[in-house]
Amino acid sequence: MNCEQIKEWMPHYLDGLLSLEREQSIRLHIDTCPACEQNLEEARELAALWREMEGDMGKQEDLDIPDLTDAVMAKIELIEAERIQRVPVPTTSRRRYTPRTSWTHYSVAACLTFLLFQFGVFEGLAYQITEINGHMSNSVTALFGPQANPPINK
Ligand SMILES: [Zn+2]
Repeated sequence: MNCEQIKEWMPHYLDGLLSLEREQSIRLHIDTCPACEQNLEEARELAALWREMEGDMGKQEDLDIPDLTDAVMAKIELIEAERIQRVPVPTTSRRRYTPRTSWTHYSVAACLTFLLFQFGVFEGLAYQITEINGHMSNSVTALFGPQANPPINK
């Protein structure tokens, strides 16, 4: 076996998926090849790190649900604050554009709800989601409203 082959078989070797025969020939090469020994060490550490990360993620899904909501809310507040500073929209024109952008509000709200479903945090968060969607609608008006949609009547 050469170093290229060792590299190819390494992931399977780490997972213990190889036949005893192949495993032995890999071990034999690694014992005599410092470069491959080094590679094996690094691959092992990466695999351990990956398992650790996956474990942490699993824990977070169960325990840190409010943190996720807080992060999303903080981001939205930030967008909101920037909007107020940057785009002062007159009340009259805003009223004119609002109906044309409402579909965007719904798709963003749907996306967000879907995202929360993906994280498995929907249950028990109905109140927060309603709040976020409310904030989202305002932010979306700021981002895609007047600038992105030219007026119907000139
Ligand atoms: Zn080698």
